[in-house]
Amino acid sequence: MVQDAHLAQCFEDTRTLEISGAGDALTVPLMFLDALTRCKTRSDVLEVYSVWAGRLTHADRCSVTLRIDDEWLMVTTMDGAKNPPQSTSHPLQNSTVGAVYERGEPLFLHDVTSIDLPDAKVVAELGLRSAVLAPIISGAHCFGTLAASYKETMSEPAAELALIQAMARCLAMQLRVIEQMQSLTTMARTDPLTGAGNRYDLYEQAEEAWTNWTTDAQPFSFMSTDIDHFKQINDTYGHDVGDAVLCAFVQRLKGQLRATDKIIRTGGEEFGLLMPDPTPMSAIERAQRLCDVIGDRPFAVHGMELVITASFGITQVMPSDHSFDDVLKRADIALYDAKKSGRDQVISISDEELAA
Ligand code: GH3
Ligand code: MG
Ligand code: MG
Repeated sequence: MVQDAHLAQCFEDTRTLEISGAGDALTVPLMFLDALTRCKTRSDVLEVYSVWAGRLTHADRCSVTLRIDDEWLMVTTMDGAKNPPQSTSHPLQNSTVGAVYERGEPLFLHDVTSIDLPDAKVVAELGLRSAVLAPIISGAHCFGTLAASYKETMSEPAAELALIQAMARCLAMQLRVIEQMQSLTTMARTDPLTGAGNRYDLYEQAEEAWTNWTTDAQPFSFMSTDIDHFKQINDTYGHDVGDAVLCAFVQRLKGQLRATDKIIRTGGEEFGLLMPDPTPMSAIERAQRLCDVIGDRPFAVHGMELVITASFGITQVMPSDHSFDDVLKRADIALYDAKKSGRDQVISISDEELAA
């Protein structure tokens, strides 16, 4: 509390920080940097930039427009509003923002009323007269444009343009870092061969499921599955075919999953599935459906039709469990039982059954 009050006091002043780059110098208010450090999401970052572009320039309106696909850019943030008043998309080929994006060059529009493009007309209809636009560009990658519009026709736009350009470059760098962090996070949790989650992903899911169980009594089931006689596939057809079977196996399971389910590769040809289920029965029925879907029809792999089966062990979290590991171990015991009992089947196990 004390520290927050102290911070608030610090940022009430108008202190600035001078950042000099290659030829450009940017004077940045500490409050802007403070707002950036508080951002938790990409849309928070966009919001801060569109608000501060307005504060640092003399603009009457500032907006961030980002590329959404091969043909369109969309206004994602306007004057700090995450949902701009008009949800506006602009074609890359027929707009001023599109031209800035395509060329990767800034643009000064002395008089928007003289521009015969739909987005310039929208700006003009709002009573705005001039505008500066800069590409949000980092290296060779352009994300979109940062634009500032003015009610008056500007006599000396150079300073405004330099400022918007510098902010657009900083924004691009930040968007790039966010993108890279997101792809690293995804990579760190994904098995590169099958696209299933990996153990790291399982640990995270397990933590969440365990917390929901211990704090809100939300039950969950865990299923372990292992492809039957998989070694024979490798030995008979080669490792490449084995790899292709693993991928096809995961794809077939994924076709049966709900949005809340995530398949995890826990070992070579072993997979796990955490299911938030209201009843143990529904989880068992679902495991049986997965077992059927694997064995029912052959897998088309490398021009061959291979019949594959898998064994499944399933259990639900119990009040006597001390940790997620207890659930995992029980599912593995059930899977072992399924193997022992002839494979290509589902075995469910509860604490009572273990004790018996
Ligand atoms: P069971 O029905 O008892 O499970 O028999 P199994 O042959 O499936 O089990 P075993 O543990 O004997 O063999 C598993 C094989 O899976 C051995 C290993 O070489 C293979 N394996 C593990 N990871 C991969 C992989 O990434 N690609 C391929 N192609 N094979 C793998
Ligand atoms: Mg196996
Ligand atoms: Mg195995």
